[in-house]
Amino acid sequence: MKKVLFLVSLSFLSSTINAQPLVNESDVLRGSLNENRDWFDIKKYVIDVTPNYETKSIVGVVSWKALAVKPSKKIQIDLQVPMVIDSILLWPNLNDSLTPIRLQFSRSNNIALAQIDKTIPKGQQFGLTIFYHGVPKEATRPPWDGGWIWKKDNNGQPWMSVACQGLGASVWYPCKDHQSDEPEEGAVLSMQVPKDKNLIAIGNGRRIPEQKWSPNNTYNKFSWQVTNPINNYNIIPYIGDYVGWKETYKGLKGKLDISYWVLRADSAKAVEQFKQVPKMLEAFEYWFGPYPFYEDGFQMVQSPHLGMEHQSAIAYGNKFMNGYLGRDLSGSGWGLKWDFIIVHESGHEWFANNITTKDIADMWVHEGFTNYSETLFTEYFYGKKAGDEYNYGIRKNIQNDIPVIGTYGVNQEGSGDMYPKGSSLLHTIRHAINNDSLFRSILMGLNKQFYHQTVTTQEVENYISSRAGFGFQKVFDQYLRTIQIPLLSYSYNEKEKIFTYEYKDCVTGFNLPLHFSYLGKKYSFMPLDYQPQQRLIQEPNFNLQDFVKTIESQYYIRLAQVK
Ligand SMILES: [Zn+2]
Repeated sequence: MKKVLFLVSLSFLSSTINAQPLVNESDVLRGSLNENRDWFDIKKYVIDVTPNYETKSIVGVVSWKALAVKPSKKIQIDLQVPMVIDSILLWPNLNDSLTPIRLQFSRSNNIALAQIDKTIPKGQQFGLTIFYHGVPKEATRPPWDGGWIWKKDNNGQPWMSVACQGLGASVWYPCKDHQSDEPEEGAVLSMQVPKDKNLIAIGNGRRIPEQKWSPNNTYNKFSWQVTNPINNYNIIPYIGDYVGWKETYKGLKGKLDISYWVLRADSAKAVEQFKQVPKMLEAFEYWFGPYPFYEDGFQMVQSPHLGMEHQSAIAYGNKFMNGYLGRDLSGSGWGLKWDFIIVHESGHEWFANNITTKDIADMWVHEGFTNYSETLFTEYFYGKKAGDEYNYGIRKNIQNDIPVIGTYGVNQEGSGDMYPKGSSLLHTIRHAINNDSLFRSILMGLNKQFYHQTVTTQEVENYISSRAGFGFQKVFDQYLRTIQIPLLSYSYNEKEKIFTYEYKDCVTGFNLPLHFSYLGKKYSFMPLDYQPQQRLIQEPNFNLQDFVKTIESQYYIRLAQVK
């Protein structure tokens, strides 16, 4: 999820993007793996938080379990201002039970830097516990401008959650706020809510027994756990007057537990709309392979914002309507056949949550593939032509303002084009591979090869090329790293029936193959840049416009006739 809003906020986006993005010290500290961050690997987060609805504040304790992969230096803890760190305790060796050491720390630029006096040797597991409190940034326009969300439902009951993709989980809890380091052993999220309001607190994964240090009896405590690696921004509390129900889905890896949570007043509508969830699972397991988190189950939780891919607790706020808040982003009509948020946000369980990019500059791997999952869902239930039409429809949303890949090391995404252009690129490559079962096995293979891992775009690109048996490097360069759309320049000699073509306006060596059918006949063109090729087309009913349109509908390229 993130810039789905590109349709309605173009002016906002382009104005922020055209102004050269400013990179400040905070961005570098956040986006790079400096020496105070690269010596340790986070294994697990245990988060315990008590929100105060009236004062819009939180009090929390967060423990990290981590492994020193190099001898320790100072330790960087990300926690954005105005949150306050009260104290930091270090357990230098988790294999002994020595009393913890209280660390001295300094605070600047949304981080705390704590001094470790006695070096933790490489290979040692250590623990860190951070006590903190404060008034976290409030979300002004979640999920895009995120933070804590303090809302009331229609019955006047408090409704709280968080949206922090891009902004970062460090807006509300202290963590190593870098996408490359997921806690391999998962996370525990405990929430305390006042007993008198009868609220329920939901977290990712499965509910577990309350933790030992459960407090006084004015609070109910809810603890949840995922046992799989998870992105920091996906660990999210949902607190409100929820009602829930469950079902079991028989999937590729056996029984998958599904839980649904919605506001009391919305349960009837939700029961009807959420019938699309098993359909979504059916389609995505077909295309991508097993749902990646059977151990933690699948949950869909109504959220006070449009939606987000929170792992094993998908945020849903699409008002129980089909389309994107009732609109079809493709204009093809197919986008109204299904609920955009159920499909898109769940698609992220494979691309974003299973396969996560190390740097958000490569975020197209999340959003391009997930946008493409909408095409695949459409195709699965409504046929190939429907999927093609959906995909072609979203192409009009591409702006080609800046490249899809952003700037590395400074927590900076590329263009919002990562959604429709990423998806168009994948559809283009699929046609160029010209073998749908191979293409599907590549999608499944990606989810297997990079199962529960963090990756670079390069790894994904190389995997696709190697499995396809064709070097798509120039194609990826073209669409991800430039804003030019390649031109297939052509001419047609009617008398001699010769079609001449070559690529122009493209990166050197651009070599996208064009396989397509026209009037029942198969064509395979291998155009090159600035090297005209000719093809004799002996087809009695040949129509140049239709012929060219056929190519353009399957490949994201421009075509122009040279007279
Ligand atoms: Zn998305």
